Amino acid sequence: MRKFLISSSSSYRDSLYYHNQMYAKGVLWLDEWCEGFLLPMVSPIGLDIVSDGAQYPSKNEKIEKVINLPIVRKHLRACTGFFDESGNDCGYCKKCIRMMLILDILGQLDKWENHFPISYFRRRRRYFQCDVVRLAHTDDDLSCWSIIRLAEKYNYKMPSYTYAKCYKQLGGVYSLLRLKKVRDLFSSSK
Ligand SMILES: [Zn+2]
Repeated sequence: MRKFLISSSSSYRDSLYYHNQMYAKGVLWLDEWCEGFLLPMVSPIGLDIVSDGAQYPSKNEKIEKVINLPIVRKHLRACTGFFDESGNDCGYCKKCIRMMLILDILGQLDKWENHFPISYFRRRRRYFQCDVVRLAHTDDDLSCWSIIRLAEKYNYKMPSYTYAKCYKQLGGVYSLLRLKKVRDLFSSSK
């Protein structure tokens, strides 16, 4: 093997954005944003380790390009957590959830039934959508923003920021109401 390609964690555009932000604060931040120049530096003699795909604005554009390839269906791994014994993604971590959201936006989710727990995702879809919208606005999370842009491109309805902000509190109230309903049920059956 002479060359080993690793899918880039971030685009050139995002890398520059974060480097400039950190530079302005006087911070040297050795994070995923520097892999483009760090990987060649740590490549051993005779093997080029290359970060590939940073020319795309986000990972979503890469996913759009390859999602229908049979080899991707077989080998895609979104998870950075623990795989289960079958080698599948865990299906419940942040990376897996966002991958399912992207597949949902692309209208491909049904095809991944054997790979991801899509019924779990569908039950909590609104919660996951709200999480992405909230993080985009509060943390300026570029990954979340790229998902929102992808949703706009595919006319996929995401909740508004106001809705997403309220969702947690409303979700709590809703749970309490459901609990009260169950209590009422028990008290009325006596
Ligand atoms: Zn996972």
